Order: sequence, then structure tokens, then C-alpha cells
Amino acid sequence: NKQVILKHHVVDGIPQESDMELRLTTITLKAPSGSASILLKNLYLSCDPYMRLRMRHIQGSYADSYVPGEVLYGYGVSRVVDSDHPDYKIGDLVWGITKWEEYSLIKPPWQLFKIEDTDVPLSYYTGILGMPGMTAYVGFHGICSPKEGDKVFVSAASGAVGQLVGQFAKLLGCYVVGSAGSNAKVELLKTKFGFDDAFNYKEEESIDAALKRYFPEGIDIYFENVGGKTLDAVLANMKVHGRIAACGMISQYNLREPEGVHNLMLLIAKRIRFEGFIVSDHYDKYPEFLKKVLGPIKEGKIIYLEDIAEGLERAPAALVGLFYGRNVGKQLVRLSTD
Ligand code: NDP
Repeated sequence: NKQVILKHHVVDGIPQESDMELRLTTITLKAPSGSASILLKNLYLSCDPYMRLRMRHIQGSYADSYVPGEVLYGYGVSRVVDSDHPDYKIGDLVWGITKWEEYSLIKPPWQLFKIEDTDVPLSYYTGILGMPGMTAYVGFHGICSPKEGDKVFVSAASGAVGQLVGQFAKLLGCYVVGSAGSNAKVELLKTKFGFDDAFNYKEEESIDAALKRYFPEGIDIYFENVGGKTLDAVLANMKVHGRIAACGMISQYNLREPEGVHNLMLLIAKRIRFEGFIVSDHYDKYPEFLKKVLGPIKEGKIIYLEDIAEGLERAPAALVGLFYGRNVGKQLVRLSTD
């Protein structure tokens, strides 16, 4: 059973492939009788930015740290190959928390959802039909109180979550602008995901000036994925009574100390609602979410771009790549198709 192990905690800087290693162990392909466990064959693993937070101890973090020397875990799509649990049978497909290895012995209840609809690519359950999709849905519709005509800004806009936030906003009749870290990603936002406009934040001398260009009257909704300087510039360009969904702040994840944000007092003057959320608090809405998005996905009204790495050997590089912006769309790893 091939596994990916975290060698040690990474306090500072972007994690490297060498902070992880591949290990070969043996596993009995059986869910032991009386264990109430299930044996999963992992088909797809999801690379997610929050995994960086688990690579070290952070006071008050919502994510527990990985234990050095142990297998990483995260979201994935798996098939049940043996079961000693009454709710699961051999052949069931599930998405949820699994381990970074070929086979995992899991004891429900973990965060596991049965996959009923296989009329779409199975890999979608690591993205649009899984955790990132739910994040975009509850973050945008649940936190931002959007309405037709709102002016919406999305950062990390071409990624797993951002590409969907932009499309949800367009379906509602909003004006949407996204930022991303390469010209190719900017093109995708405009031509594939239907954003009204987009810019490459790495090529802008000032994000504040870019926002003034795209939002001369100000921003109603900001979907926050990156934090730091971008957040400061956004605060200066929000409208009175604007809403910000604090989804993530990836620009801060590799820093020992987070950067200061200078414009926070503008929250008061502009009566801005700035609300953080964690997607797993909202999984009760998963059935409602599926009902809303499955139709539009099958009709091609919502599209989803994936970046698929092949094989567990490539998983550490794929994870690290998120912090260099190497992924174009949702980053995942394919272990097996059967
Ligand atoms: P993405 O697919 O967008 O991948 C991460 C992207 O972040 C990279 O491709 C890169 O894109 C961008 N990025 C990396 N480093 C920086 C940096 N220093 N400054 C600015 N941008 C950077 O990831 P997800 O869509 O999966 O996640 C987006 C955000 O949502 C993250 O902050 C994540 O932590 C958060 N999240 C929060 C959840 C919640 O429950 N609150 C659940 C899921 C995700 P580029 O080339 O454009 O720079």
C-alpha cells in the first residue's frame, strides 16, 4: 500500500516535495469483522490549500495538525472494497475524508458522502460536486446576500472555488471581475468561465488602481480567497454596506506571522459585513446543493476545469504547486479509474 507521509512540520515558507515522502506498507484487504470499518480503494485525491495549515501547529486553527511520520489525509473519491459497516456495501462510491494512500481502512462516521449520481465525471466529487463546490455555494449564496446587478470581485478566481463563485454570480446577473496570477488564467476567466473581466494581479503595479479601473463605483461583494495586500486594496474600494465572505487567505498560509491589514477601520465607516465561514459547518445543505447544480452541469450551463496529476508519486508536487499557482483549475490526483 503506497502512502504519502509528512516527514516533519513546516513552519515557514512554501512546503517542498522533500517535506513529504512515499512509503510502501502492507495492508490486508479486509475490513476486520466487528470493527465497524470500511476498506476504501482511493480513486482520486484532492489537493487543497488548507492542507498547508495542517502541516504545522497553528494556535486556534480550525484544522488539526498532521502528525510527522504519519500518512496525510484530506478529501478524496473512493470505492468501498470491503465493509464491516451496516451503512456501506462493497462497490459503493463515496467522497469525503480519506488518506493519501492506495487503500484506506476508515471507520465511519468520518465526513463521508455516498455518491449516487455517476452520470458526471467521478473526479467532480473532489471539486464542483464536493467540498470546493459547497464552499462556493454556501460562501456566495449563504454569506454574500447577492442580488442581480451586484458588482462582485473574486480573487484566486480561476481555482477550484473561484471559477464557480464567478459562474454562480453570473447566473444571478451580477457583474463579475476576477484576479489570477497568469495571463493564461485571465484569458480562461474571460473566455471560458464568463467573467465580465479579469486581471493578472502579478502584472499590476497597484491592485488598488486595478480595482478602481474595474469598479469605478465600488464593489458590492468580495469573495476573499487570498488575503494580505489584496484585502487591503479591496477594503479601500468596497461600497457602503458591501459584503465580504472570508473564505481563505492563501497569501498568508506560508508566513510565520500574518501580514498586517491596514484598512480594517473602513469596515466601520462603510458598514461592511465581513464574515468568515467553514464549509463543513454547512454540509446539511449538500442535498439542496446537488439538486441545484447537477442539472446545470449536465446541460453545460456550469463548467468546471480540472488539473489532474497522475499517480500518488505526483501528489506531493501537485499539493506544493498550489502555492506557486501552478494549478490551472481544480488540482487533483488520479490514483485509479476502477
Ligand atoms: P485554488 O484552486 O484557487 O488554488 C490556489 C490558488 O491560489 C493558486 O492556484 C494561486 O492562483 C493562488 N495563490 C497561491 N499563492 C498565492 C498568493 N501568495 N497570493 C495570491 N494568490 C495565491 O484553491 P481553492 O479554490 O481550493 O481555494 C481557494 C481559497 O479558498 C483558499 O484560500 C482556501 O484555503 C479557501 N477555502 C476555504 C474553505 C472554507 O471552508 N472556508 C474551503 C475550501 C477552500 P494564482 O495563479 O491565481 O495566484
